[in-house]
Amino acid sequence: ASRPSVRLILHCVIEQLNSALLDDSGSDPRWYFGTVDSPGYRSVIAVPLIHGEQVLGALLLFHSTPAFFIIEQVGLLEATARQISISLSNAELFNLIRDQAENLGTMFRGQQIEASRSRAILEAVADGVLVTDTTNTVTLFNNSASKILDLDQGAVVGNPLDQFMGLFGKAADTWRTTIQEWSEYPKSYRSGEVYAEQIDLDNDLVVSVHLSPVLIGNEFLGTVSIFRDITREVMLDRMKSEFIANVSHELRTPITSIKGYVEVMLMGAAGTFDEQQNRFLEIVRENAERLNILVGDLLDVSRIESGQAEVMITTMDLQEVVEDVIADFQLNHRKPEKGIKFSLEVANELPLASGDPERIRQITKNLLANAYNYTPEEGDIFIKVYHQGDFLQVDVKDTGVGIQPGEQNRIFERFYRGENPMVMATAGTGLGLAISKTLIERLGGEIWFESSGIEGEGSTFSFTLPVFNAEE
Ligand code: ADP
Repeated sequence: ASRPSVRLILHCVIEQLNSALLDDSGSDPRWYFGTVDSPGYRSVIAVPLIHGEQVLGALLLFHSTPAFFIIEQVGLLEATARQISISLSNAELFNLIRDQAENLGTMFRGQQIEASRSRAILEAVADGVLVTDTTNTVTLFNNSASKILDLDQGAVVGNPLDQFMGLFGKAADTWRTTIQEWSEYPKSYRSGEVYAEQIDLDNDLVVSVHLSPVLIGNEFLGTVSIFRDITREVMLDRMKSEFIANVSHELRTPITSIKGYVEVMLMGAAGTFDEQQNRFLEIVRENAERLNILVGDLLDVSRIESGQAEVMITTMDLQEVVEDVIADFQLNHRKPEKGIKFSLEVANELPLASGDPERIRQITKNLLANAYNYTPEEGDIFIKVYHQGDFLQVDVKDTGVGIQPGEQNRIFERFYRGENPMVMATAGTGLGLAISKTLIERLGGEIWFESSGIEGEGSTFSFTLPVFNAEE
């Protein structure tokens, strides 16, 4: 009797959500299929199985005698239907929960596999990895990190980072403060910002640290630090610097004697020479001077790199040093026929500076030599010394060839020399500005330049030094 009854359920029961009592399915219009499809069954009660809003099905009761059921039985059946509905929907709920649980289980297993895979990868990499969470607690510390930093994995993971910071010494201070700052004020992190530092550990290793925050969208989840053992590279670099220092040092003596003897000969102390011999000697002298400058610069660079070039900060009179350098330059380096005019402007009541007079002399001389060398005949060089807030500033402005925009961010690089013909025709090493920059920064100042890049408009190089402060 299933097929026709389905129609009945559809039309009367399910769509209208009402129970139906049929006395004779053969003549009742709601029973579309007559008695043919439900042989022998005349009386029908149909009750919807409803749970909440949802129709789960219908309960049907048949009997072969017409008008067999009475209306009270409908009520009874409805009560039964309610019970059945609850059981049915419970069963359905159970299925649903089981399915969900299975899904969750699969997802969880997937995640676990993924997590252990990531962990295995992190354990296997040669770089040390240290991960902290939002509360600054170490959540991951891989094997390599444990080796490089000489700390037991078990002792580190799960503990606050601060407990181990002492072991890294003072060098790691900025690393620690950056992590703290990011954890406390995640907003302080500017997108794209990375932090890298070199740390000398107590166990004689040199490691580089790269630190970045872990962010999902705007949410701060912690930080990742990558450690790399760069002891070998640093050692090699030191050896290279020492080698350069030694070679330059060894070259000094022969160059000095070549220069000295040539000068003596040019002065005529070893007899007279004809014009051609004099010209040759002049070439030897010029090139010996060139070598001398190169060796001097190399020595400076290697000293700076090996940390031997200490700066001695004292109180100094900046005006005096600058005046000295200009006088010395005019006396010893200027070729009168080039016709370059120097002018110096010093602000009134200039305070004393804090710096290293010898280094400032070297820097000023370098700027002056560049201005002189890269300015054509009959040009001008203006030097200005003045006071700006907590700093004293020196400007060296020339009317020379200027610096092309394409070269501007390279001229402070070591060994970089410009491509202007005037630069190429001048002896130089491309080390002067690189050395000046390192030195001035060690002295707490800055160095920069401005140039339109148009020939004749020249360039202005400036550097600053802190004003001497007696209270410090
Ligand atoms: P060097 O003068 O030995 O080449 P520097 O480090 O002093 O080395 O200068 C680097 C480069 O910067 C120079 O080769 C030149 O191209 C450019 N430069 C420096 N000063 C000036 C200047 N006053 N005018 C034009 N170019 C300059």
